[in-house]
Amino acid sequence: MTFKDREIQELQEVALREIQAAQSAEDLERLRVKYLGRKGALTQILRGLGQLDPESRRRAGQEANAVKLALEEGLEQALKALKTAARLAAVPAVDVTLPGRRLPQGRLHPITQVNQEVCDIFLHLGFETVEGPEVELDYYNFEALNIPADHPARDMQDTFYFNEKVLLRTHTSPMQIRTMEKRRPPVRVIAPGRVYRRDSDLTHTPMFHQVEGLLVDKGVTFADLKGVLTAFVHQMFGPEVGVRFRPSYFPFTEPSAEVDIECVICRGEGCRVCKTTGWLEVLGSGMVHPAVFEAVGYDPEVYTGFAFGLGIERIAMLKYGIDDIRLFFENDLRFLRQF
Ligand SMILES: [Zn+2]
Repeated sequence: MTFKDREIQELQEVALREIQAAQSAEDLERLRVKYLGRKGALTQILRGLGQLDPESRRRAGQEANAVKLALEEGLEQALKALKTAARLAAVPAVDVTLPGRRLPQGRLHPITQVNQEVCDIFLHLGFETVEGPEVELDYYNFEALNIPADHPARDMQDTFYFNEKVLLRTHTSPMQIRTMEKRRPPVRVIAPGRVYRRDSDLTHTPMFHQVEGLLVDKGVTFADLKGVLTAFVHQMFGPEVGVRFRPSYFPFTEPSAEVDIECVICRGEGCRVCKTTGWLEVLGSGMVHPAVFEAVGYDPEVYTGFAFGLGIERIAMLKYGIDDIRLFFENDLRFLRQF
């Protein structure tokens, strides 16, 4: 190896180290000029080759050209690396202290929630759930419940009829008949579901939800009715809430009673919601009428029982202090998100 060869090799080593250490495109340009420019180090060496003997000149020339290619390649790679680094640096850093993005979460409709709550209370009291058709026969909705065709009680419920015999059920009470037709006592069931009436205002919608309850056995008395329904009211509205049973009338129970609770707004003082009475009606109830037992083939001399029916919307309105039933069905998210 000649002196010239060693000089060229050393130049390559030094130049490549400097290229590697360059911090910017300007640095690289400066290095290109320094080594490959017209007055650059490698150019100087090539110029000096003329003084060598032909053999040495040829070898040193080859060597110098190889070094020139290596440096050009090195410069190009270094420039690429710098550009990549600059692009990565431009990406904003992740701020791990920012609060996470919350996924929107679905939830149950307030009517569904209250319905489940009501059913859970009765399930814990030993009742089981049964369900039946919303398109119902006149026989189950009225006849078998001691409401014959000419009965004035039919006017109490504005009914949607398909024809003379078929209608949309106006209450969940037909499930009393459907259940007793299929079973022998003891019977302990609740029947939740949709019911329909031609009615629409602040407290009525054409479709609403009821839960029917029925308990039949030997020796069931009005005291059992009071005990079960008082337990329900205390579970639903709190153990301190006052309860009263007020005589009422339903064709399929005798005696019948409305169940009132102390007004949840004024606590019995009297206000607009309770019409200054201090009480709010929450459900209807009574001892099963002997005529109903006869319709399903139960002997009224052997069995007694009680039935009750409550409106889910009404319970939800009392529980949450809502004064317009239609809010439940308008699907306004601002309303629904509060539950
Ligand atoms: Zn009140």
